[in-house]
Amino acid sequence: MKPLVALVGRPNVGKSTLFNRITRSKSAITDSTPGVTRDRHMAQAEWQGKQFMVMDTGGYCHEKDTISTAMLEQTLTAIHEADAILFMVDVRSGLTYLDLDMSGMLKKHFRDKPVYLVVNKVESRQLAYEGEEFRKTGFTEPWFISAREGTGVADLLDEVVLSF
Ligand code: GDP
Ligand code: MG
Repeated sequence: MKPLVALVGRPNVGKSTLFNRITRSKSAITDSTPGVTRDRHMAQAEWQGKQFMVMDTGGYCHEKDTISTAMLEQTLTAIHEADAILFMVDVRSGLTYLDLDMSGMLKKHFRDKPVYLVVNKVESRQLAYEGEEFRKTGFTEPWFISAREGTGVADLLDEVVLSF
């Protein structure tokens, strides 16, 4: 079986955008409306000659500031099935209590597998500086990326495929 990389994080941080970039598929719907991705999406990806699966998580979540039960369940399933987790946060909204909830969940359920703290929407040096605050999640090495522009994604994937 191919290794599985799961993208987790609260709605609107850019999971589906990164999923599309990594898998180059259009199967995960992205929209400016938070929570628009309705299902778990899986697709194949390849990097540095290594094949793996990528799982996007979304769930029905109509409110920005709550994690719906469906989303929580999806995230837990992803955590249990995955070999590596990309825990995504959004530098433009800063650290939220939902991010802290998720990081707590990851620490509780995902102890022995790699978790990469991925700070998304970093499109300037200033934003990279602000992204340092995400170290408070307890995942101390933030990876600064822009899923939209693609910056930082190659370095991140280099590291992720090394963990397989
Ligand atoms: P998801 O809910 O976590 O799957 O987030 P989406 O991928 O649907 O993205 C949510 C919103 O953030 C959309 O409006 C995206 O265009 C925007 N977005 C995603 N990645 C980036 C990024 O790297 N930079 C910026 N500035 N916006 C982004
Ligand atoms: Mg999505």
